[in-house]
Amino acid sequence: MSAEWNELQTQLPVWLEASRQRAASGKVAAYIPELANAPADALGMTICDGHQQALTAGDCGLQFTLQSISKVFTLLLALMDQGEEGVFAKVGMEPTGDNFNSMLKLELVDPGIPFNPLINAGAIAVSSLIHGATPAEKINRIAAFFQELAGDAALKINEAVYLSETKTAHRNRSLAYFLKANGVLEDVDVEEVLEVYFKHCSIEVNCMHLARMALVLAFDGADPVSGRQLVPRRYVQIAKTFMITCGMYNESGAFAIRAGLPAKSGVSGGILALVPGKYGIGVIGPALNSKGNSTAGVHLLETVSNAFDWSLF
Ligand code: GLU
Repeated sequence: MSAEWNELQTQLPVWLEASRQRAASGKVAAYIPELANAPADALGMTICDGHQQALTAGDCGLQFTLQSISKVFTLLLALMDQGEEGVFAKVGMEPTGDNFNSMLKLELVDPGIPFNPLINAGAIAVSSLIHGATPAEKINRIAAFFQELAGDAALKINEAVYLSETKTAHRNRSLAYFLKANGVLEDVDVEEVLEVYFKHCSIEVNCMHLARMALVLAFDGADPVSGRQLVPRRYVQIAKTFMITCGMYNESGAFAIRAGLPAKSGVSGGILALVPGKYGIGVIGPALNSKGNSTAGVHLLETVSNAFDWSLF
């Protein structure tokens, strides 16, 4: 066992309790009504290494939905289905500096394709690119891919969260119809694309699942547990670059400076992060800061990254 792993084992629970205090300044997302039931002061972290060791601290047993974290992995699947050309004909490569659900820039640029695959408009466009004759076929392929990455064939959709989102998603619906009008969603039914999008956001996980999914990215697409190459290295490179530039909403620049790790957060309070070649990390802390990131989770990731000088930069 490395000295770093030993220190992590001792310090992680201490750092976690210090970061937990930050939750008091955050708020659990409520625009999807079902998410509002999450415990605001929960905080958990799991770290997996490439030798099948895992460390857990805090509320790691908590189940939560992937929300925007799923966008990284639907992007990978779309790249595997359509190649780079197919995907980047429909979605750009640039950060927006706007909110995740903004439609502002869709009308300002020509062609009106979403700026990147990690904002809602971009992820909805990506959902339309997943192979499958029906929404059910697409979602089954997505679920099977996520299960393989997470090493758990039991991952499933949280139906209550899915229904809660689909009933209240007026803004995402308007974004999707806007994309249809702009020719981004061609030959597809908007409601069917939204069904796929809301369902992949509603897949339920815990910190260990996130850490395992992150581990595959940390090892360039090869799962160190099964030894299988699950994603081509080039596509993981693309995903990690988006995670650095757009993974933490409008806090991506600050997070890159303070923690320096590829990461993706979701409105459920989950964060998936990785240390290339070393660790996959899963965090849950439902209370969000004003940018939409887990307030305690961000603090904990920054603390751990700084302690071990993990920044990529
Ligand atoms: N399903 C959520 C939405 O579309 C995901 C948002 C997020 O986690 O950023 O609003």
